Amino acid sequence: MQVQLERVLEQVLARNPGEREFHQAVTEVFESLGPVLERNPQYVDAAVLERLCEPERQIIFRVPWVDDHGQVRINRGFRVEFNSALGPYKGGLRFHPSVYLGIVKFLGFEQVFKNSLTGMPIGGGKGGSDFDPRGRSAGEVMRFCQSFMTELYRHIGEYTDVPAGDIGVGGREIGWLFGQYKRITNRYESGVITGKGVTWGGSLVRTEATGYGTVLFAERMLATRGLSFDGMRVAVSGSGNVAIHAIEKAQALGGHVVACSDSLGYVVDEAGIDLEVLRQVREVERLPVAEYATRRGGGAHYVPSARVWQVDAQVALPCATQNELDETDAKRLVESGLLALAEGANMPLTPEAVALLQSAGVLYAPGKAANAGGVATSALEMQQNASRDAWSFEHTEERLAGIMARIHDNCAETAEEYGDPGNYVLGANITGFTKVADAMLALGVV
Ligand code: GLU
Repeated sequence: MQVQLERVLEQVLARNPGEREFHQAVTEVFESLGPVLERNPQYVDAAVLERLCEPERQIIFRVPWVDDHGQVRINRGFRVEFNSALGPYKGGLRFHPSVYLGIVKFLGFEQVFKNSLTGMPIGGGKGGSDFDPRGRSAGEVMRFCQSFMTELYRHIGEYTDVPAGDIGVGGREIGWLFGQYKRITNRYESGVITGKGVTWGGSLVRTEATGYGTVLFAERMLATRGLSFDGMRVAVSGSGNVAIHAIEKAQALGGHVVACSDSLGYVVDEAGIDLEVLRQVREVERLPVAEYATRRGGGAHYVPSARVWQVDAQVALPCATQNELDETDAKRLVESGLLALAEGANMPLTPEAVALLQSAGVLYAPGKAANAGGVATSALEMQQNASRDAWSFEHTEERLAGIMARIHDNCAETAEEYGDPGNYVLGANITGFTKVADAMLALGVV
């Protein structure tokens, strides 16, 4: 079976040259699948792996827009509709200069497994653009979103493909995207996009869900060793939506969060991160995280051009971006007494960093399990839209907590069943894969 896996992997790498992050995501999943194929030769006979690695549809389009100086700008837009065996394609849009096909495909591939893990009826997809919103005026970002949707609208729909946010796409951008969709189609189709504002079809808890869910997953994982967040020293990377809500939930559970970051540097605040100040700086004024240290005065300090993983921590929550924590960082964290790490971002650890944590016995939760609360709550938003209902915060948060507990337990049980208890990578990959693979078998060669 190993030979079979290696042959397919080789094919996938050769068919998708230069897509480094996609190669990384596929390789990591394949490393878990040997025993599943051994037990289920029907997956091999039906070429499930080959089909899983080939997106059902890949759309690349031009996004022209005019900047504030009247200059015409061109960006590239993407939507990769990866797998719809379990439901309509579902996944976010990322606006960041690093976006190219390989990034969108890695994210889309991860999304297929993540969405399967949520237990909700959603397939996997991802999209975005190499547009850089940093330093752009609100008017420029709005015109970009409108131009992006002017092409994307023909590919999406409640039963087809349901985008949402990701890096560079928050509630503001979702509003402009949805507004343009509504204008072009002349239909108020709430279920076409998620992450909407609560006054116009959005769900309570969607904003908080990814960060909250990551911490809830970590809490349950810590409990397997009789540990909890109470009194734990926590380091978080990033300071966007996922990071802010991870900090909020970790603090609510008694965690002592001492650091967070942005792409320019990190801040350490031994008194504990003051969320009110952080929110004002990052969400309201959209300033770099360095400003947090300035406003907090003596207690906090800013370290430019360095990664937050220099900070000692018992729990680490990478909530920034892919490959933001490498082997050297992992080694240092382990030496500083790291007990657990849960990924709020998608694929934030390099494969070498993952291997190091696992061999050091650190509890490690991969993003496709730990950060699935965001997309799961998107599916709850779709449920509310379909029934023209709006649930309370408490009810929705309870649903999220239930989903995260189930994902955790399913991963843990699968890891045990396959003879490697505590290996959440194995558990997540096998659980996510099996559900999609069975649906693909049932639906025939399509
Ligand atoms: N971009 C988020 C993720 O990585 C959320 C996607 C969604 O809600 O559709 O899972």
